[in-house]
Amino acid sequence: MKIYNTITKKKEPFIPLEEGKVKMYVCGPTVYNFIHIGNARPMIVFDTVRRYMEYRGYEVNYVSNFTDVDDKIIKKALEEGVSAQEISERYIAECKKDMEMMNVKPAVTHPLATQEIGGMLEMIQQLIEKGYAYAVNGTVYFRTRKFADYGKLSHKNLDDLRSGSRSLLVSGEDEKEDPLDFVLWKPKKEGEPAWESPWGQGRPGWHIECSVMSKKYLGEQIDIHAGGEDLVFPHHENEIAQSEACNGREFARYWMHNAFLNIDNRKMSKSLGNFFTVREISEKYDLQVLRFFMLSAHYRSPLNFSADLMEASRNSLDRIVTAAENLKHLMGNAECNAMTESELALYEASQEFVKKFEEAMDDDFNTADAIAAVFELVKYLNTHTDGAHTKEYLEKCLERLKTLCEILGLIAEKKEELLDEDIEALIEERQQARKAKNFARADEIRGILLEKGIVLEDTREGVKWKRA
Ligand code: AMP
Ligand code: ZN
Repeated sequence: MKIYNTITKKKEPFIPLEEGKVKMYVCGPTVYNFIHIGNARPMIVFDTVRRYMEYRGYEVNYVSNFTDVDDKIIKKALEEGVSAQEISERYIAECKKDMEMMNVKPAVTHPLATQEIGGMLEMIQQLIEKGYAYAVNGTVYFRTRKFADYGKLSHKNLDDLRSGSRSLLVSGEDEKEDPLDFVLWKPKKEGEPAWESPWGQGRPGWHIECSVMSKKYLGEQIDIHAGGEDLVFPHHENEIAQSEACNGREFARYWMHNAFLNIDNRKMSKSLGNFFTVREISEKYDLQVLRFFMLSAHYRSPLNFSADLMEASRNSLDRIVTAAENLKHLMGNAECNAMTESELALYEASQEFVKKFEEAMDDDFNTADAIAAVFELVKYLNTHTDGAHTKEYLEKCLERLKTLCEILGLIAEKKEELLDEDIEALIEERQQARKAKNFARADEIRGILLEKGIVLEDTREGVKWKRA
């Protein structure tokens, strides 16, 4: 298995630190709103990496955080007149629903920044003791130049950075020893959440969160650290500086970064306003289609979102599901059970497509080629299965197709549609739950319906629903 490592700019064979185990950390979203489909790209891509590693027999300790303290969360809380915690809890819950609908497995641990402040204070203290950090007026900065390897991930040269950051000198951050120094701890501002620290009340900087959570849940050294390519600099570069300065050893062996999901060839982002939330997309498409669309390109290639590509993805996915449904149908009617010799030969010949699939995935997770191998298998199965075949053969064929789909996180099954009366009954139950102030159940019902492609709209005349 080869992985493209951002730090060496090369595809390298994957050698785990500990045999049979993978320690993997993926930077998660900042939770102040529904996630957009750009945020969904790393979730889907790295979930697929995890699934493939598991298929290859590795035990994957997968950790992905939620950044639940941040300027944007605080801003949203002020706008709504609620606490920052209420905002982050709400959107973590929504994000988890989106993940489930995209068939993204929950991480082994989803740490929250606000629950790990003690560890952050400890690491900051250690960095100060080692001379890598200093406090000024309640702010603690990292002494960037002291870390000799700074820039090794993003391949940036300190002097270029220095000339590029001159504006910082006039932006009121002149208490820093050097404009390149970055914040580890910032002092409390009125109305903001804050924690006690040796440097006064305040809150952590963003980068220190991941260094601390990764160390706590995976150890000082990990196999894979991943995220979107916008995180290479400064986020991941700063994480390396903090972790390696503190622990005195290499932080992550492999650094993986997905390219952007674009729209009209520009990065999809909240700040540009050119985004679709995952939830919006779920009203039009089964999120399996979104997942298929994301995996139809290599994760390091930019991907342009368009309705045409989504339609093409829907059709392609349908072809796979139809092949699987046909096999099931044939199995239901098959009379004879045990596989014959000639069927065994046919089945073994289909191994060729599994091999192609594995070769593609072994080559830095080339999901585009892996999907092509799945289609070759589909074509093969469509031409080599009919009503005359035995149940065992058909079963094996279906299992082979399902296994490959599952690695990609695609469910090769037709979703059972809810009948109108079932929908009405669930909506009624939701209304009752709301009346009884059981909002958890009400939300749950909305989620169940959404998963089946039923979208609810609360209007003055009552609840309306439609099929996506
Ligand atoms: P954020 O909440 O902005 O910190 O983003 C969470 C994750 O989504 C990070 O790994 C980002 O790099 C990634 N991300 C954000 N926007 C995009 C995009 N348009 N395409 C791909 N990845 C993105
Ligand atoms: Zn991070």
